[in-house]
Order: sequence, then structure tokens, then C-alpha cells
Amino acid sequence: MNIIDIITKKRNGGVLSSAEIEFAVHENIPDYQLSALLMAIYIQGMNGAETIHLTHALASSGKQLSFTGDKTFVDLHSTGGVGDKCSLIVLPIVAACGVKVAKLAGRGLGHTGGTVDKLESFTGLSCDLSPEQFEKQVGDIGIAIAAQTAEITPKDGELYRLRDVTGTIESIPLIASSIMAKKLATGCPNIVLDVTYGSGAFMKTKKDAKRLANLMVKIGQMSDRNTLAVLTPMNQPLGSTIGNTLEVEEAIAYLKGEGIVGAAALGRLPSKANIHTESRILNPESSLHETCTLLAVNMLKLGLNLSITEAYRKIEDAIKSGAALEKFKQMVEAQGGKWTEEFPKARIIERTTLETLDAYEIGNLVRSLGGGRLKKEDNIDLTVGVKILDRDKKLVEIHKK
Ligand code: URA
Repeated sequence: MNIIDIITKKRNGGVLSSAEIEFAVHENIPDYQLSALLMAIYIQGMNGAETIHLTHALASSGKQLSFTGDKTFVDLHSTGGVGDKCSLIVLPIVAACGVKVAKLAGRGLGHTGGTVDKLESFTGLSCDLSPEQFEKQVGDIGIAIAAQTAEITPKDGELYRLRDVTGTIESIPLIASSIMAKKLATGCPNIVLDVTYGSGAFMKTKKDAKRLANLMVKIGQMSDRNTLAVLTPMNQPLGSTIGNTLEVEEAIAYLKGEGIVGAAALGRLPSKANIHTESRILNPESSLHETCTLLAVNMLKLGLNLSITEAYRKIEDAIKSGAALEKFKQMVEAQGGKWTEEFPKARIIERTTLETLDAYEIGNLVRSLGGGRLKKEDNIDLTVGVKILDRDKKLVEIHKK
């Protein structure tokens, strides 16, 4: 078996066997050949069986963690968005409510942001946790967010960095396998997936988002994980900031309860019929608040078996009491970060009116300001970004170098 035959087979529309997929993932293949294979997969696609083999090969490229036994573990993953800081908000909230969170997160991908880059806004914070550190931190404080490392799903990290700069991101099998490999590697028994669609998402249509959601749910269920997907629109940025440190500041403000007054303000309650513990797909409005609430409620349902009303009450208490913010702080400090609620500012802050608040356009603008990568070795500027001051007037602040 050799990699050139595998690339050629996929380029010609062939179906790869599990042995061929394992060869491509587990052998030491140079970047240029992996990039060619990724492009062939992007163009020709993969069937369900190939995608499942790829997921398992990526998950087993590093150590498997042991969070399987405890039913209060719930993981959350978004398929990508612009201004999407939901993980920074939802995970501390649910951890403060008693759900255990062991998340493997990613960096920015294409025009979208990534949780690992955002967390690095805290000086000294590292997501490069060894499996032992990861497990210990979750045992000690109930929450950890780690990146793919040389030890945990390393091959997903390698492919992710290549996809980011080779025009091969928006592929259903590549996204599904990348996300589900990370979820399977931690062993987490419950998984909530936020599958985005619209201009700022990788799935431009709801129909494609549904296909992606169904595929990931199927992969989760086949591996005995209680998996649920939520479909959320992503045509405008989520919340009012886009850019790493700006988003962390917005997440902190949210956790401090700013703008959230009482249960009525917890957004439109999803009706009972919209909450599921299996493979159902929901469709909330695109506001940061509604999306975060919907994700948190579902995580509490899965992990703690709460009713919707109980889940809402717990979420509200976690914010009002300061427990959610305290949990975020504990996690930042446990991962070596210096806690702060204010971050260095970009050198230039300009107020202007944009022609559009289209999520893709703004995501690309932030990337071009230096907030995302164009080559895989690029360093990003965490301070640059966009702050939306008035959505109707399209009035924004541009933060740049
Ligand atoms: N998040 C991931 O982890 N992988 C993808 O491919 C897209 C979003």
C-alpha cells in the first residue's frame, strides 16, 4: 500500500477501505501528500462507512481518555461560527451546575474563531494539557478545555492545521470526523453538538447542516454516546464582538450577568417538545443569549436529567450567584492563566459604518486584520477584531494593529 495510490483512488472517486484510511492517518505522510488527499476528499466526498473509519482512525491517533464511566460528563462542540463564544459561556455555567466538562477544542479555522485561541488571551494559559493533567483537572474542579496535542488526537491537529490553509474546510466528512474524533477520544458519554448554518458557517444551507448533524449523531450513537444536535443560524456574528480578546471580554460580561435580568430575560424558552435527549435537531434564533441558553439547558438535561424549568433555574442561579464566573476563573488559573477581566487593547480603534454585518465578511475582515491564519505557522494577533455598537445602523469599532 502507498499514499500515492490512495490519493489517486480518492481523486478518481473511489471508496477507500478502512486499511487505506488507517494507512493515511497512522503513517508519517508529508504535508503535501496529506493536503492532496484532503483536497481529493473535499472534491469527491466520503460515504458514511469511510467517514466512520476516518473518525476512529483520528480518535485512536493518540491516547484515549477515561471519562466514559461517569454519566454526568457532557461535551459540547460547535461546527464553527463568527463571534461564537458559546463554549466560553456555556461550559463554566454547566460546570457550576454540577455537570463535568472535559472538552477537546480547536483553534480558529478559516474565517471562524476557535476556543483555544480565545482562551490564550489569558497570559500564561495553556490548552496543551497532558492526558494526566487533563484528567486531574477535571477531577479537581470539574472542567478543563484542552487542545489536540502530540498525545491527544494528534492527527486531527495536523489535518486541522492543513485544512485551515488549503481550502479544504467545508467538507461534511472532514468536519464530522474531526469533531467526532475529539469527542470519542475523551470517552465522554453525552455530547451536545451545535451545528451552524448560514453565510458565516461552513454549512451554507440548513439542508447541509442537517446532513452534517445527522452524520455526527449517527457516529456518536454507533459508539454508544448519547448524542444530540442543535441547528443554529449563523448569518450575522453571534453577540457583539468578533476577535479573540474582545470575545473573552464579552463572555466574562455575560457570566457576570450583564444584560440578563431575571428568568424572563433568559430568552424565549424552547418549548418542551423542542428539548430532546436523542438525535433530534432544534432551531433557535441566532442571538448569543438564546443559543447559549439552549445549549446549556440541553447539557443539563443530558448530564443531570433535569426538567427544562429546573435547568433554567439552575442556569440563572449559577450566573446570579457568581458561581459560573468563579468556575471560569478556576479553570483559567488551573491551566496556568493569569485571571483578568480586561485585556490589552489593539493599537488603533476606529469607529465606522460597515456596508454589511454578514458573518462571513466580518469573519474574513478579522482574519485579514491578523486575527486568523493564512499560513499554518502564522502567529495571530489576539487583540484585533470588530465590536458591533449598533446592529441596525451597522455601526462598529474596528480594532487593528
Ligand atoms: N471544529 C472542529 O473541531 N473541526 C472542524 O472541522 C470544524 C469545526
